[in-house]
Amino acid sequence: MSTQARSLPAPAPAVNPETSEFWTATAEGRLLLKRCLNCGSVIWYPRAICPECSSMDTEWIAASGRGRVYSYTVNHRGEGAYQDSTPFVLAYVELDEGPRIMTNIVGADDIDLAVGLPVEVVFHDTGDGSALPRFRPAEPRTHPAS
Ligand SMILES: [Zn+2]
Repeated sequence: MSTQARSLPAPAPAVNPETSEFWTATAEGRLLLKRCLNCGSVIWYPRAICPECSSMDTEWIAASGRGRVYSYTVNHRGEGAYQDSTPFVLAYVELDEGPRIMTNIVGADDIDLAVGLPVEVVFHDTGDGSALPRFRPAEPRTHPAS
């Protein structure tokens, strides 16, 4: 059985000056991360100040959009916008760049779901100039990464 009986809602996020570039990129199908130019940390969630060293010297980098399921749960009861979308998968995905982000896994059958499952980002348009980064089981690479 699919863990996504119905399509998930895509409520628009609250956007502020620290996150506007991130959300604009999602609408264009790009996942950005912040990297600290002082200590090298890759920062999640997007913000102006590095949580590791408090430097404000940060830059945007393009994420690969690939990662692995770090943890997940199948929700059979939803609230608010998700009330009629059960069952759905809430998960932490560990990106190839290091950060773990809370997200949804879509397009996976129950039998596929597992900690460590390779996943890739998909974007669900909010209709408000942004898109929600969610993840689906990754297509196998046809060529090894060089
Ligand atoms: Zn830092």
